[in-house]
Amino acid sequence: MSNTVKNETATRDVVILGSGVSGLTAAIYTARANLKPLVIEGHEPGGQLSITTLVENFPGWPDGVQGPELVENIRKQAQKFGAEIEMGHLVSADLSKSPIELNFGGRIVHTRTLIVASGASARWLGLPSEQALIGHGVSSCATCDGFFFSGKEICVIGGGDSAMEEAMFLTRFATKVYLIHRSASFRASRIMLERAMAHPQIEFLQNTVVEEVLGVAEKEVSGIRVRNTVTGEVKEIALSGFFLGIGHIPNAKFFEGQMDLDEDGYIKSRDNVFTTHNGQIIPGVFAAGDVQDRRYRQAITAAGTGCMAALEAEKYLEERGH
Ligand code: NAP
Repeated sequence: MSNTVKNETATRDVVILGSGVSGLTAAIYTARANLKPLVIEGHEPGGQLSITTLVENFPGWPDGVQGPELVENIRKQAQKFGAEIEMGHLVSADLSKSPIELNFGGRIVHTRTLIVASGASARWLGLPSEQALIGHGVSSCATCDGFFFSGKEICVIGGGDSAMEEAMFLTRFATKVYLIHRSASFRASRIMLERAMAHPQIEFLQNTVVEEVLGVAEKEVSGIRVRNTVTGEVKEIALSGFFLGIGHIPNAKFFEGQMDLDEDGYIKSRDNVFTTHNGQIIPGVFAAGDVQDRRYRQAITAAGTGCMAALEAEKYLEERGH
């Protein structure tokens, strides 16, 4: 468990926003450079790895590693070298000030460099019925909530690796998993798609959109109403769990107006980790991990950009005699 961010009078050398794999990798590097980084941990400690299952593609783990174990190890490694990890929620930031000013709900922290590694959060469909039933059968985290659906029928929405992974994982509990995808083609990697398709408990419904999650009045998911976008057929499916696997939204909204973001809100980094405002580099502010990566979004690439951001922060401080 981490502490809560305290008001500080001294200026920090490095503050890292986010305790996922990219933030913690940046913490290892800056801590080993004796910069005593402060890592701010938000409402999803450990980032997306902490809610995933087996990670089979992180180099160095021939038999795979559980996501939470992997990120916990990276965290311990950062703390071993002196990184401080504290809970906090950024309310506002002034990137034009030198040092940079960060406001965590009345608590102010000043820092010479900032590494934004705030990641991305689960995307929802946005249906009123879905929103009303979050926590009552609607979930964006299979690893957190799968257990509650033992012996039940459920659905997973999406056509990418996340949806395939969730569907496979949920077969451990649910007797049947409907994989509902809005189009006919999949973004999922071939190996994961094939595994899910071959699974006897998973039924694929393609070209299918969810119109409503049923059960709002009863405060418990009882089914879904879906429409086939090709045939126009509308039908209801009885089920108890509704899982989202439709990607993520970058957590960069608090920098709107001070940093260049793309049309979906991802930080538009330059030369991997530099941030800009109106096309000009923002001095001392770097971005790493999924908040600036809409293309690769892998644990290893998040670690890679975390390392790059740390090295650039070190260089920035060194050039200014700190
Ligand atoms: P993704 O690849 O962007 O896929 C998102 C899926 O959700 C797409 O099929 C998309 O449909 C669908 N979708 C998006 N918005 C929707 C909406 N409003 N309604 C219905 N469907 C919607 O996201 P992801 O699966 O989270 O994967 C992100 C990255 O992480 C990828 O690079 C992936 O390889 C990686 N990842 C890897 C692993 C692993 O290797 N173990 C596990 C999870 C994720 P359309 O295709 O129609 O747009």
